[in-house]
Order: sequence, then structure tokens, then C-alpha cells
Amino acid sequence: MHELSVALGIVNIAEKETKKAHAKSVELIELEIGTLAGIEMESLDFVWETAVYNTVLEHAIKKVTVIEGKAKCLDCDTVFKIVHLYDSCPKCQSYLKGIIQGKELKVKALEVV
Ligand SMILES: [Zn+2]
Repeated sequence: MHELSVALGIVNIAEKETKKAHAKSVELIELEIGTLAGIEMESLDFVWETAVYNTVLEHAIKKVTVIEGKAKCLDCDTVFKIVHLYDSCPKCQSYLKGIIQGKELKVKALEVV
């Protein structure tokens, strides 16, 4: 499952940061996940407990900020919300666009103890 490797990647980052800070465990982890990042939130929640078991994240509270997909049309400069990467401009129907946000997948903050 794709989400499991994502979760394990997050655990990896958290382990490194915790070590760097000479801390023992993480109290809170904040993630930013874009709607275009290809992550199913339900699947991530589902694999989370397995992924964090016996790691610094085991008792951490997980906060997820969802970043909505946004793009700018390269033909008419309209900024619009996109749900799928192949969505076209609502104004001129062009498929040429630049993604402004929505592909985020990152650890925004960690609170360690
Ligand atoms: Zn357009």
C-alpha cells in the first residue's frame, strides 16, 4: 500500500529530528498534505498505528492540514481550484496550467519531549 510507505517515511523523518533534538519522543506532529499528492487520508489513518508502533511517534498526536489543489491557467491566467491533475480551466477549457498548490506532502512541525 502506497500510504504505508508514506507513513514509514514520516516516521523516518520524525526519528531523525527527535535524535537531532536529543529528545525521546514526539508529542505532536503536524502534516501538510495536498489533495493532489495522491494520498488517501482514510488509508493513511488506517496504516498509521501500524507504522508508528514502537517508534518515537507511537504516542504522538497527528494533525493534518489539507491543502486544496489550485492551478493557474497558462492561457487566460485564471486561478482555479482543481480536484484532479487533469482538470481543465473553467473559463477557457485549456488544459495548460501551472500547479500552484496541492502537491504538498510534508512534516510541517514536530513537538518533541
Ligand atoms: Zn483558462
